[in-house]
Amino acid sequence: MLIVTKQNPKDKTKEKPREKTEEKPAEKTKEKLKACDLCHQLVSIRYRIQYDESAKWVLVCPPCWHQVQPNNPYYRYGGTWKAKKKAKKRKT
Ligand SMILES: [Zn+2]
Repeated sequence: MLIVTKQNPKDKTKEKPREKTEEKPAEKTKEKLKACDLCHQLVSIRYRIQYDESAKWVLVCPPCWHQVQPNNPYYRYGGTWKAKKKAKKRKT
């Protein structure tokens, strides 16, 4: 007659404590859409430009940008605004 004593084959004391890394790969980050200053559509990318003699900065969507840019002596480009910003992304 055999007496089998159950033993844990692996001692799990070495198991790592759970770290507080909360990864949410499936979660969609809500884009903060902003309205174009010209057509007032909500867009995720806007260009900061000047397009008339008032020289005021406006934020426009790409379609509007293409409309006001050609042959525009007042046109000035001042940067691109994007809804999504990833701080840790590096572009080389
Ligand atoms: Zn627009």
